Amino acid sequence: DKALLEVYRGKDTVTADGVKVHLYGNIGNPEDAKQVAACDGEGVGLFRTEFLFMGASELPSEEEQFRAYKAAAETMEGREVIIRTLDVGGDKDIPYLGLEKEDNPFLGFRAVRYCLQNKDSYRVQLRALLRASAFGDIKIMVPLVTCVDEIRSVKALVKELMAELDAENIAYNKDIQVGAMIETPAASLIADLLAKEADFFSIGTNDLTQYTMAVDRGNAKVAYLYSSYNPAVLRSMKNIIEAANAAGIMVGMCGEAAADPLLIPLLISFGLGEFSVSATSVLATRGTIAKWSKAEADELAAKALSLATETEVAELLKANAR
Ligand code: PEP
Ligand code: MG
Repeated sequence: DKALLEVYRGKDTVTADGVKVHLYGNIGNPEDAKQVAACDGEGVGLFRTEFLFMGASELPSEEEQFRAYKAAAETMEGREVIIRTLDVGGDKDIPYLGLEKEDNPFLGFRAVRYCLQNKDSYRVQLRALLRASAFGDIKIMVPLVTCVDEIRSVKALVKELMAELDAENIAYNKDIQVGAMIETPAASLIADLLAKEADFFSIGTNDLTQYTMAVDRGNAKVAYLYSSYNPAVLRSMKNIIEAANAAGIMVGMCGEAAADPLLIPLLISFGLGEFSVSATSVLATRGTIAKWSKAEADELAAKALSLATETEVAELLKANAR
């Protein structure tokens, strides 16, 4: 009930026994940041920039992008804003890029793969992000990472652009963080290696579930397999979170699973540090987190991880819903 949730407005996001986590909102354009702020989000955990590109008829200029990123940062008034670089391909088409039709678009030329092969337009976006970082707490997030080389390449490009901006006397945050979305089984399996290169992780459970289960996230015929309660997906999430915590980097989650009240105790138990959800789910998510202590969450997680099927996990989580 909406009115009951109002008691969580203005409060920290903490478990029943005082473990504090970050609770952010997902946005698709700078306007959405106002809604995140109005719904008491503590920052932005995912700005899906492809909507800036999809809503245009040609590549948005550095100036246009700069204005959009700066506006989001300013709306959040110094709070963290994690901006994901262009995640084109798969289910996200941008007609004017003229991408070739592929037999397996979800396994193809998309996201960071596309960006690193089209460095001129990637430079434009990264320069806009760097310039906007002078106006708030912006972090750069790289989608669909599958290997360490990709993070290294993006970081090298960011370094080059920093030198360029220095030469032009343009301000930016010299300590800007570059993080990796962990949303492929490859990234999950090498989470320990990626954690040495990336400044933070954010788990994209929408894609992580799709790729882990080898199930097209838009195909109704196999939708019964598309669930983050599958033991394979739970183990993957746990592995990612533990690797990040062992390396001392922040780990968040910006896929739909972060707002699932049934999963929240497991995420608390695994050690997730940041939840990024839709603006309208912020207060409800804070409310669910407040109902669990770490010890109770650990007990439920141990049971969940001992189960062999998605159905058993779902039943356990439903029986323990708060
Ligand atoms: C995800 O994959 O979980 C995610 C947050 O990104 P998108 O849904 O935009 O692919
Ligand atoms: Mg994704």
